[in-house]
Amino acid sequence: MKRILVTGGAGFLGSHLCERLVESGHDVLCVDNYFTGSKSNIAHLLGNPRFELMRHDVTFPLYVEVDEIYNLACPASPIHYQHDPVQTTKTSVHGAINMLGLAKRLKARILQASTSEVYGDPEVHPQPESYWGRVNPIGVRSCYDEGKRCAETLFFDYWRQHRLPIKVVRIFNTYGPRMHPNDGRVVSNFIVQALRGQDITIYGDGSQTRSFCYVDDLIEAMQRMMATPEEITGPVNVGNPGEFSMLELAEKVIQLTASSSRLEFRPLPSDDPSQRQPDIGLARRVLNGWQPTVALDEGLDRTIAYFKKRLSV
Ligand code: NAD
Ligand code: UDP
Ligand code: UDP
Repeated sequence: MKRILVTGGAGFLGSHLCERLVESGHDVLCVDNYFTGSKSNIAHLLGNPRFELMRHDVTFPLYVEVDEIYNLACPASPIHYQHDPVQTTKTSVHGAINMLGLAKRLKARILQASTSEVYGDPEVHPQPESYWGRVNPIGVRSCYDEGKRCAETLFFDYWRQHRLPIKVVRIFNTYGPRMHPNDGRVVSNFIVQALRGQDITIYGDGSQTRSFCYVDDLIEAMQRMMATPEEITGPVNVGNPGEFSMLELAEKVIQLTASSSRLEFRPLPSDDPSQRQPDIGLARRVLNGWQPTVALDEGLDRTIAYFKKRLSV
């Protein structure tokens, strides 16, 4: 049994992680400022004596006693992270400094939820960890991309300078139950639109691609990463290499929801990456043969069931 801190624990991924850690017998401290997360995501854990919830913003110092830290606090959808971009950079950078300072004082292991956005709009495909990326430093996505890149820098400097045991995972597009229905991410947008019979909004011509990982597979990878030997720092890509265009995704969602929705084409947001697929060779090697097990159709089915219940349609 360990005492584990999850920052951003009331969010989409964080709430699944808290649930899994509590189920595994650990004491979990969930820290969140509820910017994009909500208490309803972790309401079912509140009665459990192994689970504790604290409202706190990670841009401020945090003094608690734990054995391990998962640092997930950061808005993840373009609409949310562009809403207050200065705060987004502060959350990634000041948040990383505070959580690394906490880990240093406690000599605790710390895992950073980094992102495929560190690769920007990539010229190398699929993306291996050795690729340094192509990120616009001054665009509308930079607050997130560069914030996460700087957080990786801090993690590796704390490791080099203070021998702090760090773990960095670069998460590729992940979806599943408890995604925020209005956060503008493509999977939740398409499902909500299809269930409501609204037009499905395709940005650009829909030929851009993403690779979608079901949340359970991602959480399994994060837990395995935390348990790796100390010399395994990452960065390690985690995601599902199955790659789909947004048109293909829209067709799947329409079919699985038996929706009468039509496609509506809208302008492509600036700096929107045209393709993205993780090379997960390293993850397979260092995470004990880990690989995604939930295919897109099955994961979409589960996510659609969640939104049907939530939207009562
Ligand atoms: P989310 O928005 O649902 O969760 C983020 C959580 O962090 C929310 O609960 C939010 O309230 C909290 N938060 C934000 N700023 C905070 C602050 N200053 N102090 C404390 N809490 C704060 O998003 P998610 O999809 O669950 O993403 C979780 C993490 O995983 C993020 O760091 C994100 O960058 C990373 N990630 C997610 C994906 C994905 O596809 N879901 C992909 C790459 C990386
Ligand atoms: N910090 C924290 N909790 C702790 C220890 C440190 O939040 O238990 C924060 C503190 O705000 C500090 C930051 O982490 O500024 C970085 O800590 P570190 O020890 O690396 O650097 P320093 O204290 O010298 O700034
Ligand atoms: N997208 C879309 N319609 C939507 C929302 C998003 O076509 O209603 C596109 C978006 O332009 C991007 C892809 O879907 O090319 C994934 O967007 P998301 O915001 O989910 O993730 P990210 O761009 O951060 O990978």
